[in-house]
Amino acid sequence: MYDTKSDQMYRFMENEESEGQPRSNQAPRTLISMENIWKTYQMGVEQLHALRDVSFQVEKGEYLAIIGPSGSGKSTLMNLIGCLDSPSKGNYWINGNLVSDMTDDELARIRNKEIGFVFQTFNLLARATALHNVELPLIYAGMRAAERHEKAMQALESVELGDRVGHKPNELSGGQRQRVAIARALVNHPSILLADEPTGALDTKTSYEIMELFEKLHQEGNTIILVTHEHDIAERAHRIITIRDGKIEKDEKTK
Ligand code: ADP
Ligand code: MG
Repeated sequence: MYDTKSDQMYRFMENEESEGQPRSNQAPRTLISMENIWKTYQMGVEQLHALRDVSFQVEKGEYLAIIGPSGSGKSTLMNLIGCLDSPSKGNYWINGNLVSDMTDDELARIRNKEIGFVFQTFNLLARATALHNVELPLIYAGMRAAERHEKAMQALESVELGDRVGHKPNELSGGQRQRVAIARALVNHPSILLADEPTGALDTKTSYEIMELFEKLHQEGNTIILVTHEHDIAERAHRIITIRDGKIEKDEKTK
């Protein structure tokens, strides 16, 4: 369990180590803080609670898996974390900023710059090369051609696809397509990499290769939140939150 006391102690020690001064309250490293989050859908006369009173925090540099059966609320939670949707009740802070207070422009900036999304079905542009797919977020950000070319190349090299940059999605394997999608998610150096069932469309061997890539990206300092319904995938992460019927059932550090 990630109980509050040991969590505070952990931060206390972190702060003491880095600054020589204990600081007890707000953790400077807290990237995500969800407090009593509810998401309720009105279905005719019935209310469907997709999330019920969910609270947790994620620090910079964590590698977290959210696991639960189909329909347990994982994607709903991911969409909230990624600021693609807003909760019915409760507070969500990202980097110490209350998301419900943000303007549309601020939200758009967070989605473009702070969060890298990876999906089960890759969501690549079919007629564009790997390089162009990875450049897209930089085009939206208004970056000049030479610079974005260099950044996209770097991102593709970091996923070991430096030799496939001119290939289109149908000229790549499933694992390679997912690596292009991961490069695209990373190209803006986001604070968080969010992956919803990233291995769901891949065979076992390829899934493990993608999980090795996530491990490498985590070791390089990226914060990763991964949603899955498969235990052998979740076990690769360093912390596992189990969700069932929209509630957190377990929250454990595993590494
Ligand atoms: P998971 O990703 O774990 O499979 P979801 O987060 O997609 O689960 O869904 C959680 C619950 O919320 C499910 O019962 C689903 O039917 C319901 N749900 C999700 N999105 C909507 C929506 N837009 N309208 C109504 N119900 C929804
Ligand atoms: Mg889902």
